[in-house]
Amino acid sequence: MTDALEGVDPLPAGPDGLICSAKGCRAEAKLDLRWNNPKIHTPSRRKHWLACAEHQESLSAFLSARGFLCEVVPLEG
Ligand SMILES: [Zn+2]
Repeated sequence: MTDALEGVDPLPAGPDGLICSAKGCRAEAKLDLRWNNPKIHTPSRRKHWLACAEHQESLSAFLSARGFLCEVVPLEG
């Protein structure tokens, strides 16, 4: 496998750009919630959840409740 096991994953940009990761939401993402599950990821690994303004609270609450949330980074443009 050549998958990166460490470091920040690439942003999940699709044909419509960066879209909110909340289920069923197709809104443009405003924030990059970077997270790491210490049970399956090395400490420097970062996965992304993208959040629109409406879902930033619920998505970050979900991750922080599990101790997964690392950083919240605003998306430019
Ligand atoms: Zn959303």
